[in-house]
Amino acid sequence: MARRKLIAGNWKMHKNVAEGLALVHDIKAALPCGGDPEQCGSDMPEIVVCPPFTALAAIAAEEEDSCIWVGAQNVHWASGGAFTGEISAEMLMAAGVSHVIIGHSERRQHFGETDATVNQRVKAAVGAYLVTIVCVGETLAEREAGDTMDVCERQIREGLAGLSSEQMKNVVIAYEPVWAIGTGKVATNDQAQEVHAFIRSILQSMFDSATADATRILYGGIMKPENATGLLANPDIDGGLIGGASLKAADFVAIVTAAIPS
Ligand code: PEP
Repeated sequence: MARRKLIAGNWKMHKNVAEGLALVHDIKAALPCGGDPEQCGSDMPEIVVCPPFTALAAIAAEEEDSCIWVGAQNVHWASGGAFTGEISAEMLMAAGVSHVIIGHSERRQHFGETDATVNQRVKAAVGAYLVTIVCVGETLAEREAGDTMDVCERQIREGLAGLSSEQMKNVVIAYEPVWAIGTGKVATNDQAQEVHAFIRSILQSMFDSATADATRILYGGIMKPENATGLLANPDIDGGLIGGASLKAADFVAIVTAAIPS
């Protein structure tokens, strides 16, 4: 099955509203379609930017008619209530947000995110029909101990527990080896493809072949213009979750362009 590629920029805690609007403006100007959905060919990847919460509404309003979608970097599982500092899926939807990243390794490492809380957030996000990008990946110690597949399997099974095949239509997986995020070390094409194929096999055993076949699995971990073509050529790599390189319009658009089949 042909899966539409997805290139998502995770801006992390970078860019205020004005800086974010300027970056999206520069991204659109550099895109072959100029950001006009009418000019995007059918091969154009889905393009998503994930700014900090404070810039979501302004960028979503600005990009309402463009081919750029706007994602959040987290979401709470409750629809409202006494949860100081949290944001609900309904609030994101009202702000014009269409996608959300859940379970990023930085949330797991620094903010106590667990597979159980990832699962709660995922259920809330898919319940609100947000396109839900669920991050999984092993640390360097886990890879060196030979535990890569076990870790990814546990994170997938527990993070997606209780979802139906129907709900999986709104789920995207991002395989992000923690040892490759922002470190300068990138997984080789073979290392990445091996884990992506394994993740697809887990989706098949949890759901069914059609779901495994249709689910997009992104790679994240120092994807940049220099390595994007090679990584994206692998049969089970359906796009990228981009950190550092998503903050430079030219680099981000070069990765988007690398995702267009030649
Ligand atoms: C990320 O944080 O999701 C990421 C992939 O970062 P980088 O591209 O900078 O490694």
